[in-house]
Amino acid sequence: MMVKEWCMYCGECAGVCPRSLIEVRETSLIFNEEGCKDCQICVQVCPVQALSKEE
Ligand code: SF4
Ligand code: SF4
Repeated sequence: MMVKEWCMYCGECAGVCPRSLIEVRETSLIFNEEGCKDCQICVQVCPVQALSKEE
């Protein structure tokens, strides 16, 4: 998952991941990509379109 620089670290994406694969830190997002089933829910829920799939 690519995180754009305008991410506000609001935690919305982490809250909706059905597998709890996203960890929000103060100035970073940590993805556990291994368990990701590519459901795109995190991408869709972000209020500022800060997530995208491309490498
Ligand atoms: S929902 Fe968007 S702005 Fe909020 S932490 Fe996730 S990527 Fe960042
Ligand atoms: S695509 Fe789905 S499984 Fe993967 S990190 Fe986002 S919400 Fe979680």
